[in-house]
Amino acid sequence: MGKAALIDEVRRRFGAAAALTDPADVAPWLTDWRGRWRGAADAILQPSSTEEVAAMVALAREHGVPLVPQGGNTSMVGGATPPADGSALILSLRRMNRIRAVDRTAQRCVAEAGVILETLHDAVAAQGLRFPLTLGARGSATIGGLVSTNAGGTQVLRFGPMRGLVEGIEAVLPDGAIHSGLAGLKKDNRGPSLDQMLIGAEGTLGIVTAARLRLVPAIHARGVAWLGLASPVAALDVLRALQSATDAVEGFEILPAESLDAAVAHLPGARPPLAGPHPWHALVEATAGSTGEENPTALLERLLAPLLERGLVGDATIAANEAQADAFWRLRDGLSEAEKKAFGPATQHDISVPVDAMPAFLDEASAALERAFPGVRASGFGHLGDGNIHFHVRAMGRGDDGWLDREGGAVSRMVHDLVTAAGGSISAEHGIGQMKRAELARLSPGRVAAIRAIKSGLDPAGLMNPGKLV
Ligand code: FAD
Repeated sequence: MGKAALIDEVRRRFGAAAALTDPADVAPWLTDWRGRWRGAADAILQPSSTEEVAAMVALAREHGVPLVPQGGNTSMVGGATPPADGSALILSLRRMNRIRAVDRTAQRCVAEAGVILETLHDAVAAQGLRFPLTLGARGSATIGGLVSTNAGGTQVLRFGPMRGLVEGIEAVLPDGAIHSGLAGLKKDNRGPSLDQMLIGAEGTLGIVTAARLRLVPAIHARGVAWLGLASPVAALDVLRALQSATDAVEGFEILPAESLDAAVAHLPGARPPLAGPHPWHALVEATAGSTGEENPTALLERLLAPLLERGLVGDATIAANEAQADAFWRLRDGLSEAEKKAFGPATQHDISVPVDAMPAFLDEASAALERAFPGVRASGFGHLGDGNIHFHVRAMGRGDDGWLDREGGAVSRMVHDLVTAAGGSISAEHGIGQMKRAELARLSPGRVAAIRAIKSGLDPAGLMNPGKLV
């Protein structure tokens, strides 16, 4: 019984590659992407098929050994880092990296949990299709991790987060049973959906081994515009005006002037897209999947012209070519890095509130925090159309290396209180992991009690990703 016996048994049955124990192989996977959490584990189990996952989960149960499922280890909340006491083993899905099928006509595919997002993008692009979810970690994040965190990204406005793109899941439940939901049934009313329950469960209810995913036509053309705006209220009015006229808008990102200034000052080769100053900015992307649809650049010109005339949009420029469109997106994608260089340490919050409440939330929450913590500066940028903002509170002049440790917790608690009061979520897309576990319990005890009841029913010994989510 115990970890050593489990590792021996896995090797005996599935070969040496099924359990890595060399510290040099294990060490890179013990720390999270940002280097905030450090765990310990004697081994990484590496199944290469669903049957092997089922056998390993059954063995772990028999030996009483907790498992931490891991994909690309790009979690922003310490979700895939094992506990520091070394009690658990990592179960990596990276060897399960086959794209089992791409159905071009039905526009869907089945990918195993260890398939890297970028690999899936490339594979379906070769067939004229697109998996319409993308994020900064696409070169490392895996389908299993994306499903298990219900990941979002910059294209959620049109196609939704993972929950909107997953048509079925294959998983190994904590008792070692295989749940197969890959049939792609349009209708299935056999009680609550196990597939949906596993999406966003952060590995606490079982191991995702494969997913059936919705695809859309590859992008035939895109139009990218940069807008100068008076306020987040104006930004929301513009978004609503565009959405009422077309469903081609895929991205609508907002940022305040100070964030753009930081990007222009600190990102190599960055230039302000507009000539004059504006308090707020929006980056808009519209796409077309075929020649039959209106060219997205022409579409944006047509729809933005009356908004400029009305003064709702202060100024606008539309990318003349792909290089300029990429330059606009580089400004947006580099904001966190640029803000860090420009303003020093900050507490960062991945939050959401109802879309219509976001403009007021940004004003009121920023003012409340700046009153409560004199000298700090609070502002947000990000996915306005999803009600999801990356809300940063910066130390500014009072910033020194110890500021985050001294005051970061109190600042974050206040942000989370304000979000909760606005009917929002303390985790819009990154999940709870170990980072936000205490805050979830403090602010949503009823939700936590319900999730715990489900978990203890499915995983009575608590062996699936202990210490995460609840
Ligand atoms: P891991 O980090 O390995 O695991 C994440 C969680 O899922 C853990 O709880 C783990 O136990 C569990 N898990 C992993 N695989 C399985 C499985 N097969 N079965 C069951 N549980 C499993 N996230 C967004 O939503 N939007 C963004 O825009 C975004 N941008 C990012 C940019 C960067 C630069 C980075 C580093 C991260 C970003 N993230 C973003 C966060 C991260 O990429 C996502 O959470 C992603 O879904 C994690 O995938 P992964 O394969 O790395 O999972």
